[in-house]
Amino acid sequence: MRAPAIILAAQLFALQPAAADQVDVVIQAGHQGRPQSCAPLHVNACNLGTGLGAQLERNWTPIVADAAAATLRADGLNVKRRPADYAGRDRARAAVFLHFDGSAPACRSGASVGFPGPADAGFAQRWEERYRASFPFRFAGENITRNEARYYGFRKVDAPGRTLLIEFGELTCPAQERWMAPRLRELGAQVAHFISAELQP
Ligand SMILES: [Zn+2]
Repeated sequence: MRAPAIILAAQLFALQPAAADQVDVVIQAGHQGRPQSCAPLHVNACNLGTGLGAQLERNWTPIVADAAAATLRADGLNVKRRPADYAGRDRARAAVFLHFDGSAPACRSGASVGFPGPADAGFAQRWEERYRASFPFRFAGENITRNEARYYGFRKVDAPGRTLLIEFGELTCPAQERWMAPRLRELGAQVAHFISAELQP
C-alpha cells in the first residue's frame, strides 16, 4: 500500500522547481544583514552602506522594506523579502532594491534610480515622477553610479520590465536626513502603492 504515496511524493517533487520561486514582488533591503552575511556568502565587496552619525542606511532599509511588504501583502500580493546577501535567484513580476545615498562632500546628491536596461526605464520613470511630487529635495538622476546601473541584485532576479533600484535621498545630507527619518514607513507604503498600481491587470 506504499506505492501510491511514493508516486504522489514524486509528482509533488516534479512540480516544485517551477513553482517554488515564482512571486509577485521581490523587495530587497539594501545592505541588510551585513557585514555578517558577506563571508558565508562569499561576498568580496561587502559594502556596508552609508550613514549619518547613529543613523545607518542598513538599519533604515529594512524598516522601509518591511512596510512595503506589509502593504503589498495586505493588497493580496505574494512578496519575497530579501536582505543584502542570499543564495539563489528569484522570479517575480516586479523587483525593487531599496537604498539611501551617501555623498562626500555632503548634500551633493539626492534621490535617484537605477535600472538594468531600457526595458525597465518606463517603470523607473513612473516611480521617479511619483516620488518627485513628495520629495522636496534634488532628484540626482538615473543610473548615476556604476553601483546603480550595474547593481549586483539585478542579476539575482528575473523581473522583466519592472526591476528597479531606489535611492530615496541622501542620508549624509542633514536636511534630507531630517526629512526622511520620520517617514521611513511612509516611504515603504509609497513604494507598495506604486507597485500595486503597476501590477494591476
Ligand atoms: Zn546603499
